[in-house]
Amino acid sequence: MLKKGKFSEKEKADIKTLIKFVGIYCKENHNGEKKTFHFKLLDIKEIEKKEVSLCPECTRLLTYGLTMRLRCPHEVKPMCKKCETQCYHGEYKAKIREVMKFSGMYMIKHGRVDMLYHYFI
Ligand SMILES: [Zn+2]
Repeated sequence: MLKKGKFSEKEKADIKTLIKFVGIYCKENHNGEKKTFHFKLLDIKEIEKKEVSLCPECTRLLTYGLTMRLRCPHEVKPMCKKCETQCYHGEYKAKIREVMKFSGMYMIKHGRVDMLYHYFI
């Protein structure tokens, strides 16, 4: 069902948002060893125009987030909090909310209010 390289503009925009938010969160909060992020269905470099380095924890979260986004069963994706599917569970749900909140605030402080920081909250 998941096919590489066949994403709508909306999906691409959501994917970009996810990568950016987790990237900011990791950069500002985690100091451990980081590795270049890879996701089997996407060319991150093509989407972000640069490589993204994440710690193991954020790598897991972003992998989960991207997988869930690409699996979203709705034709038009609703706001996650209003969605009946609720694909984020347990620790991932708490974590992604924390990431969205932190990175949302970070972007506002840095004048990036054009990003959809409320997207997942
Ligand atoms: Zn991290």
